Amino acid sequence: MKPRVAFFRAGLQLLLAEDDNINRSIKVKGGIYTAMAKEGRHLSSAPPYGYRKEGERKERGLVVEDREAKIVRLIFDACLQKIPLYKIREKACEIGFKRKGNMAIQRILKNPVYAGLLKVKTFKNYPGGLFPGAHEPIIDRVTWYEVQTKIKKSKKTKIKIDDNIPLRGILKCLCGKPPTGAASRGKSGRYYYYYKCASPGHNNISAIKAHQQFPGICKLMSIPERDKQLIRKKSNIRLEFEIKKNRKTVVTKKEQLEQVKEKLYAVEDKWIRNEINKDSYNRWYSTYNQSIIELEHSINHTNNNQNQAFDLLNKNLDLLTEMAYVYTSAGTLKKREFVKTVFDNNLYYKNGLYRTPTMLNLLSHNHLKMKRKGLLIYEKKAEFHKEIPLCGEDGSTNSRTAKNHYNHK
Ligand SMILES: [Zn+2]
Repeated sequence: MKPRVAFFRAGLQLLLAEDDNINRSIKVKGGIYTAMAKEGRHLSSAPPYGYRKEGERKERGLVVEDREAKIVRLIFDACLQKIPLYKIREKACEIGFKRKGNMAIQRILKNPVYAGLLKVKTFKNYPGGLFPGAHEPIIDRVTWYEVQTKIKKSKKTKIKIDDNIPLRGILKCLCGKPPTGAASRGKSGRYYYYYKCASPGHNNISAIKAHQQFPGICKLMSIPERDKQLIRKKSNIRLEFEIKKNRKTVVTKKEQLEQVKEKLYAVEDKWIRNEINKDSYNRWYSTYNQSIIELEHSINHTNNNQNQAFDLLNKNLDLLTEMAYVYTSAGTLKKREFVKTVFDNNLYYKNGLYRTPTMLNLLSHNHLKMKRKGLLIYEKKAEFHKEIPLCGEDGSTNSRTAKNHYNHK
């Protein structure tokens, strides 16, 4: 055989083989799509955490593994309670979670399998997305969707929480940077904590002093009994208005839900009577199913919210007269939320005093007393600005101006 011909043959074979591979791959992908989207089967050989695989061939599917499912539920609950991921991991490990790696918890929280759903890739012009699986869910869908929105929101917070220095990452140096927390060992062998700015010569605040001052500020935030009654009255009116509005929304959403369900039945009906092919059936099924899940979620959410609103209002209003108690009895995470909210993320420290340009109106009525007692100086933005440059939205400052204005200590 002439070399040229041999070369041509080899090339042809290669092409044919390639073609065969492509065909096979389409068949395989189509098979995967059918199995997942239409039959609700979980296909990968390794079961997700919380499940085991049972059965043979087409009957092979996911079965809930009770001991692990408990841990999965704990992880989702903890996420809804705003517990940071590393803390969730600690808790989970305590009760027997063994998966390694920093992403292990996130992977569980993001996996739709726990809500009884399967994530299916688009195939040709078949729709991809979430499809109901044949397996038993571990988490209800409402919770799962709530966790998804929560994860999206909380991507930026990554500060380590330390109970000895609860204000780390919140309290700011006048240069705009949040001081790091540090501990140094005293003569007695005890540790003393400081909030220390990274720039030399800036703040080095004794945590003991700062922490003693803070409840004093909170005490003065408390509002008098008669004001509380007035607020209660006003808030009730406002709440009733909101609830009426919500009720209307729920009614509209329920109507929409009924309509979508009707449409879904109609499509099913058509398919059973062979009036549409399986492709269109699948496309519509996926679209309607998605809207049904979303509508149910938002109806549930609005209902729960309005039932809780009055309870929350009454509980919280009672606390307004006891602000020092609110702060001191709170755990570190709540303390941080509290400080961020009251001072709108702008709490500084200088010359042994807290300072802020922003404070919740309701709680700042005693601010002159706070100043006299050497606890906090509350100056509205204009005056505050004269003294130091306010940091930008992203926490950055013009460092040269900051230094020029920096003359404490
Ligand atoms: Zn600084």
